[in-house]
Amino acid sequence: MNVDRLDHIGIAVEDLEASCTVYRDVLGIEPGGVEEVPDQKVKVAFFPVGDSKIELLEPTGEDSPIAQFIRKRGAGIHHMAIRVDDLEAALDRAREAGIRLIDEEPRAGAGNARIAFVHPKSTGGVLLELCERE
Ligand code: ZN
Repeated sequence: MNVDRLDHIGIAVEDLEASCTVYRDVLGIEPGGVEEVPDQKVKVAFFPVGDSKIELLEPTGEDSPIAQFIRKRGAGIHHMAIRVDDLEAALDRAREAGIRLIDEEPRAGAGNARIAFVHPKSTGGVLLELCERE
């Protein structure tokens, strides 16, 4: 299993359009399109920054995990995603090491990625997304 790069930083926002301003209009980064991820009840926009991206996440329902996060902690950095070339292998190694996983199995993420979240209790307080892309 190889770790490729910091794939993206996920930021929870209340208003996606308003939050795009600084990245799109001030920094001049073209967003890679807006996409809805029904599984996580979010609308996302990716802004490429070198080999990495900034992912803005707006909740599409009150029961969205992002809506719950914003209610509890306010808008802000929600997770960090590391790209791996073999998600199953990464999950197996995490389990062997006694790491607490949120997702035991890969699920569908934005941009056709396969993703799985690792619990912040096992990562020093940071919600970690493992992400595999074609
Ligand atoms: Zn993400």
